[in-house]
Amino acid sequence: MNVYVLRIGHRFERDKRISTHLALTSRAFGAEKIFFDVKDSRVAESIGKITGGWGGDFKVEYSGKYAKTIREFEGDVIHLTMYGLPLDETLKKIKNSGKDKLVIVGGGKVPSEVYELADYNVSVGSQPHSEVAALAVFLDRLFEGKQFLKEFNGGKIIVPQARGKKVSEP
Ligand code: SAM
Repeated sequence: MNVYVLRIGHRFERDKRISTHLALTSRAFGAEKIFFDVKDSRVAESIGKITGGWGGDFKVEYSGKYAKTIREFEGDVIHLTMYGLPLDETLKKIKNSGKDKLVIVGGGKVPSEVYELADYNVSVGSQPHSEVAALAVFLDRLFEGKQFLKEFNGGKIIVPQARGKKVSEP
């Protein structure tokens, strides 16, 4: 099962940092790729700068219109929204399908069409918080923590320390 993330509604003037964090979180929490419906080359550049040297095959793609990306996706489409059904109620079905997943996170107001196009509208708690938090919790539940065992081929490896920093070069 491969997991992809679709970030919709990136606002050029204010979302550079949070969209970068969404990409980093997608990568670190086991997704293969993040799609953006809005092109902002500063985000791709920023992700490249941070992940350069840490390995793996994570990809960032500008995919154009979100509706096309969603319609063409073969697998389960999960839209994270505080208005959806609780994660605890929906997760089992989502996991058991065995299909690839497209996880959608919003920025500003999410168009109502997205709620219709998604197979599942899922809430991570029923209070407003952040797309980064919602994505991290969802991926962690989906992968049951095993995403942290994933190897990022060709990258530096952190040697965990109680204090200080130790990194082994590839
Ligand atoms: N007002 C927006 C709307 O129309 O849904 C929500 C904006 S919120 C700051 C940005 C994104 O964070 C949402 O689109 C959603 O993906 C995610 N999000 C925030 N709280 C959430 C929650 N409790 N459960 C799931 N996703 C959440």
